[in-house]
Amino acid sequence: MSFTLSPLPYAANALAPYISEETLNYHYGKHHATYVDKLNGLMDTSASLNNDDLPKIILDHPTGAIFNNAAQIINHTFYWDCLAPAGNKPSESLIHTISEHFGSFDTFKDQFTKEALSLFGSGWVWLSMTPDQKLIIEPLSNAGIPLSHGNKPLLTCDVWEHAYYIDTRNSRPDYLKNYWEIVNWKFVEENIQQS
Ligand code: MN
Repeated sequence: MSFTLSPLPYAANALAPYISEETLNYHYGKHHATYVDKLNGLMDTSASLNNDDLPKIILDHPTGAIFNNAAQIINHTFYWDCLAPAGNKPSESLIHTISEHFGSFDTFKDQFTKEALSLFGSGWVWLSMTPDQKLIIEPLSNAGIPLSHGNKPLLTCDVWEHAYYIDTRNSRPDYLKNYWEIVNWKFVEENIQQS
């Protein structure tokens, strides 16, 4: 057994024009795939390890190359699930839940965007649920992942430059503007319901 590249949940052109087919081909087909290849090179895959073992692997290796590649595999698979072809709208129930925690749905989006734009260098911005069921926005550098500190991920945005450089060049704000058009709100809602 070994670690594998999970299939994309949609076609490579399904998020266009907000995220181009070329970006997906590089981001999924090169960057995400490389984390899988690297982890297979770093771990003894004869020990019948597979993708289901990734959450335990990041807890057993809280820093270093194994952590970085394992966390990036989980983070990217989750990120693809957080996106969907444009046209999604959050349900009234989801808007209500998020508003309860952030004051309003727009305040949540503004705060999340602000954290995404101010995260220095590479990383991920998360909507997470704490063990006491509080919804929080957490910016985490590099391969940072909420599971490391016991939080449940609900939504993420990859703010590594490789996520947007082909489409919006150096403009992370333009990438964020596009990002909100293709968030898979149904997935976010399911994550909250399963908590
Ligand atoms: Mn990425």
